[in-house]
Amino acid sequence: MKFSFKSMWNYKCPKCREGDLYKKPFDISNPLDMHAKCPNCSLDYHPEPGFYFGALIISYGISSWMLLLPALLMVFKFDWSVNQAMLLAIAIAGITYLKILRGSRSLYLHLTMRYDKSARKSDNSASKYDKTIFK
Ligand SMILES: [Zn+2]
Repeated sequence: MKFSFKSMWNYKCPKCREGDLYKKPFDISNPLDMHAKCPNCSLDYHPEPGFYFGALIISYGISSWMLLLPALLMVFKFDWSVNQAMLLAIAIAGITYLKILRGSRSLYLHLTMRYDKSARKSDNSASKYDKTIFK
């Protein structure tokens, strides 16, 4: 199994790395609107009920450290007040909300699913030539 950070970051299917996980690239009103299956290779994005509970834990781990460390740095290194540090943490949380929410689901799916090179359609260039030029 080879983990692809690029595929995880761009919300692509972990199996074929071509199909999109989410229906719209930026939808703030319904940020977790995912396809039921991969449009390219038909991988089930919801393999069992409560599957994305693990993504919740990933999201919590990432966001808590991402907010705590800058706040502590500002308070103890640059003598900010706690209220100023809280405002900074809220601002960072607001800016990164969608990326953390979607990225944790994508990361969890990539950690649990295997990459299958044969599921890719665009890599299959030899058979494409067989059909178009050599027949
Ligand atoms: Zn796929």
